[in-house]
Amino acid sequence: MPARHLTAGLSPEHRDLQDAVRQFVDERVIPTAMEREANDEYPSDLFPELAAMGLMGMSIPEEYGGSDVDYVSYGLVFEELARGWMGLASVVGSSASGAFLIGKFGTAEQKQRYLPDLALGKATSGIAMTEPAVGSDLKNLRMTARREGDEYVVNGTKTMITQARHARPLLTLVRTNPAADPPHRGMSLLLIDLDTPGYSIGRDIAKLGHKGLELCEVNFDNARVPATQLLGGVEDQGFYEMMSALDRGRIYMAGASIGIARASLEAATKYATQREAFGHPLADFQAVKLRLANVATKIEAARLLMINAALKTGTEGRASVESAMAKAYASEVCLEASYEAMRIHGGYGFTKEFPIERYYRDAALMPIGEGANDVLMLSVADSILKDAR
Ligand SMILES: Cc1cc2nc3c(=O)[nH]c(=O)nc-3n(C[C@H](O)[C@H](O)[C@H](O)COP(=O)(O)OP(=O)(O)OC[C@H]3O[C@@H](n4cnc5c(N)ncnc54)[C@H](O)[C@@H]3O)c2cc1C
Repeated sequence: MPARHLTAGLSPEHRDLQDAVRQFVDERVIPTAMEREANDEYPSDLFPELAAMGLMGMSIPEEYGGSDVDYVSYGLVFEELARGWMGLASVVGSSASGAFLIGKFGTAEQKQRYLPDLALGKATSGIAMTEPAVGSDLKNLRMTARREGDEYVVNGTKTMITQARHARPLLTLVRTNPAADPPHRGMSLLLIDLDTPGYSIGRDIAKLGHKGLELCEVNFDNARVPATQLLGGVEDQGFYEMMSALDRGRIYMAGASIGIARASLEAATKYATQREAFGHPLADFQAVKLRLANVATKIEAARLLMINAALKTGTEGRASVESAMAKAYASEVCLEASYEAMRIHGGYGFTKEFPIERYYRDAALMPIGEGANDVLMLSVADSILKDAR
């Protein structure tokens, strides 16, 4: 079910982009996705093609070689990429978050140093917030960075960091002002290079899905980071900067969730027309039809929420509530769609003969990553109640 036949209101440019990325995914990603994910293979061989299409530089200003796409395009691209393989979407998504932060808040020197290579796919970036004792409760993170002359001395551990072995640089959230009250007013972002003295990649963390890229612990043991690596050269803005990256990240996660959901629906629809039971194709049974219709409707709703959040972010700079709604809803639809597709596939859906079990595994993280849905929905409630009080 091509998305373009359903969602109204997209511009010809958006449809052209959708078509181009869909064709790339059909030809270059889907045929090898099962094998790549089984081998947990980092997809760097695809970076030149992605870069040529502007997809490695979506968050990067044109003057640094990026395509600087609007937010609607951003969500639509991740829908298409994740429809092929979430591992690839995850590489591009986490790198785009790092690039966005540099492009929006970095100094001219930082932009010049990192952005052209990121846009060309010669490097990827990433973000490091999560710590062993702190995930959702980001305001209480522990990692410290003490200024000493022209350097910061950084201590602490970050965990569950996507593509840490490749990220150049890794945008790392630290406490530069431990006395700040409330604490999040004393946080900053540092750009960490792989060869920073005292910085090391720790253990790899095995995971259920989102394969093809590593998830690591990273350690800072009196790491010495030049003060020129402070994002934008300004201290104590890191929490706010990271929040704007997370709002953008939620459009990515909403789009990617819709992509996995669509892949699930497309596979289930095809299977239902081919598989017979009791002398009929599965698609003749109303129970199966209703499942397909239910999921298709929710995918449309999720995409409309995503587009709404993207449009509002584009016109108003930020749309935290709408982005939270879109990400939370789309990720729940993603889970439901992958599970319904598995049921329609019967026992075969549970086997590695079909891609359904991969969609199901990849779907499982979507309600948690880039803000756990419970936390996001509570922020939506806070906003509603604030308006009412
Ligand atoms: C594959 C993968 C990739 C990741 N990549 C990165 C990365 O690149 N960089 C990075 O920094 N982190 C990354 N993470 C970490 C991810 O961002 C965190 O797992 C996420 O923010 C949730 O934090 P947590 O796991 O500590 O859960 P917790 O904060 O411990 O929360 C657990 C659960 O408790 C509930 N909960 C918590 N607080 C509240 C509340 N206030 N109200 C209601 N319910 C609540 C929610 O249901 C939540 O799901 C990644 C994780 C995975 C699995």
